[in-house]
Amino acid sequence: MNLSYWEYKTWLSNIDFTIVGSGIVGLNCALHLKKQYPKAKILVLERGQFPQGASTKNAGFACFGSVSEVLSDLKNHPEEEVRQLVLKRWEGIQLLRENLGDKPMEYQNHCGGHEVFLKEQADLYEDCLDNLDRVNTLLRPVFGTDAFLVHPNTFNFNGVQKNYVTNPFEGQINTGKMMKSLLAKVQNSGVTILNAIGVDSYQENIDHVVVKTEQFEFKTNKLFVATNGFASQLIGETVKPARAQVLITKPIENLSIKGTFHLDEGYYYFRNIDNRILLGGGRNLDFKGEETTSFGETTLIQNRLENILQTVILPNTPFEIDLRWSGIMGIGNQKKPIVKQLANNVFCGVRMGGMGIAIGSLVGRELANLVN
Ligand SMILES: Cc1cc2nc3c(=O)[nH]c(=O)nc-3n(C[C@H](O)[C@H](O)[C@H](O)COP(=O)(O)OP(=O)(O)OC[C@H]3O[C@@H](n4cnc5c(N)ncnc54)[C@H](O)[C@@H]3O)c2cc1C
Repeated sequence: MNLSYWEYKTWLSNIDFTIVGSGIVGLNCALHLKKQYPKAKILVLERGQFPQGASTKNAGFACFGSVSEVLSDLKNHPEEEVRQLVLKRWEGIQLLRENLGDKPMEYQNHCGGHEVFLKEQADLYEDCLDNLDRVNTLLRPVFGTDAFLVHPNTFNFNGVQKNYVTNPFEGQINTGKMMKSLLAKVQNSGVTILNAIGVDSYQENIDHVVVKTEQFEFKTNKLFVATNGFASQLIGETVKPARAQVLITKPIENLSIKGTFHLDEGYYYFRNIDNRILLGGGRNLDFKGEETTSFGETTLIQNRLENILQTVILPNTPFEIDLRWSGIMGIGNQKKPIVKQLANNVFCGVRMGGMGIAIGSLVGRELANLVN
């Protein structure tokens, strides 16, 4: 289908900045570009009807890394690097709260985040308890006080160690509301978002970039790629897709479980939302199979999720599954995201490593700041 003169002239001419991907990173990039260049014509192109990657699919943990994750990072990275990683997540959450306000995205952190250890993980549990002081000392400059505390199994999970390790600073958001209010904020600032437009490729010229979509071509002065798990389709960066599967129960009467929970070294995570339990994870059951950009659920992982609900989380409470879905994350052998200039007029902010709620606002701003 040919576009009309009006369509080209109104939507696709004299574009200063084009952003590919309307996830949390792309939208924050657009927002900061608009702040820096109020008169700029800014376009966001999104392949899905919704932002169709991870930002509307995730579990909504406003988290900084559980104690076992921090300890595992300390095995492979210098202490200062680990502290900086946690600090970035902390600052990222504060920026998200500043941008959107707590109420519109139902941010709350009065329940805390808990790492729960299975009975068969006695060694890991002991190791975390033995190293609690070390981790708390390391992170005191970030949180101003001890970030990790020992907490009894007050929610009566079954088959787990006697205590959780709790981070009282960890919070949770309503992911849908966060993205809806971020989209509204970006649109109200005068940025145009076009959905159902996939970018196939681009061609760099001296003073502009030609963007080729599935439907049309146009010119932009600068191009920003914020496609995270899908990045290797468009740019040559090493970002591996990692599918994450989730399920949610129907509402459960008198559900007492409140907070965010990490289980089995973070391979599983669950939380309460609207009197339901949302549970995700299980990628470790089939790493190879889940290294995909295709959405979908598998029997292997969904059965394990249900089994964990039945045996560990809700052993004495009947429940029904309401919905199952998946999202695509972008990971690599390093935890740091890739935020860089790829060519004269092309930039990228990708590889959020499953922490995009925490760091996405910061990364979006950093991506926008690459232009000067
Ligand atoms: C199930 C699940 C649970 C998670 N839980 C948490 C959590 O609790 N806390 C946390 O901090 N993080 C969590 N994450 C990770 C977090 O959601 C992501 O890190 C974050 O959303 C990534 O944001 P993004 O903007 O980089 O990418 P995305 O949200 O994936 O956005 C990229 C966008 O680019 C679009 N796109 C891709 N290719 C093209 C193209 N060629 N043309 C046009 N558009 C394109 C996609 O449709 C997509 O909308 C979770 C992720 C999943 C999947």
